[in-house]
Amino acid sequence: MYVILLGPPGAGKGTQAKMLAEVTGLAYVSSGDLFRRRQLEGAPLGLKAKEYMERGALVPDEVTIAMVLEQLESGSATGYLLDGFPRNMAQARALDEALAKKGQAVDRVLSLTVAAEELVVRLSGRLVCRQCQAPYHLEASPPRVKGRCDRCGGELYQRKDDSPEVVRQRIRVYERETEPLIQYYRVKGVLAAVDGAGSIQEVNHRLEVALAAGKGFSKAAG
Ligand code: AMP
Repeated sequence: MYVILLGPPGAGKGTQAKMLAEVTGLAYVSSGDLFRRRQLEGAPLGLKAKEYMERGALVPDEVTIAMVLEQLESGSATGYLLDGFPRNMAQARALDEALAKKGQAVDRVLSLTVAAEELVVRLSGRLVCRQCQAPYHLEASPPRVKGRCDRCGGELYQRKDDSPEVVRQRIRVYERETEPLIQYYRVKGVLAAVDGAGSIQEVNHRLEVALAAGKGFSKAAG
């Protein structure tokens, strides 16, 4: 079972995907987290990805597709929740082909929509844990202790690509490269558009309902 969470940077994909994964038992796979982990490890792939990430550009497809498909192959989960992948048509087709070989397909695509001006506000206040990647927001969801992660005590930092200038570039890349996927999955009949405005709980509820409306998810909404 494969579920994709689509949405512009700052739409709340990471936060929502982790919550949904907990409820549904789907394994959470974030291409951005995979890249950041490889950077921390000092892996060549991480260093290569870094230069693209810091200017808000997409990491080349051959690198990205291989990394994500390898992650999906190596896991033992029966279902996956993908966050940040696919991000363009080439990646979507590569994913379809890889799944088709196993007799599977993308089951549901949840597309989070948020107004562009709201995205810049959300991202410029975002903090992320260096250790466990848990997201916080200076105003909307601050940590209990300043600069420290509530879950693991790790150091919180602002991602370089969350500066207003890079955020605007990432939004442009999303509109050009990723938005066409909405139509691609709509034609396949697996798309559900979900309003990303409101509190984390409100959006989470909408996502659970949209997921439950898809084939094979009748119990997910609870
Ligand atoms: P994210 O954590 O999803 O916001 O991703 C952060 C950055 O990682 C993006 O701005 C890209 O530079 C890179 N990245 C993540 N996922 C992909 C992908 N599927 N294709 C290409 N680049 C990606």
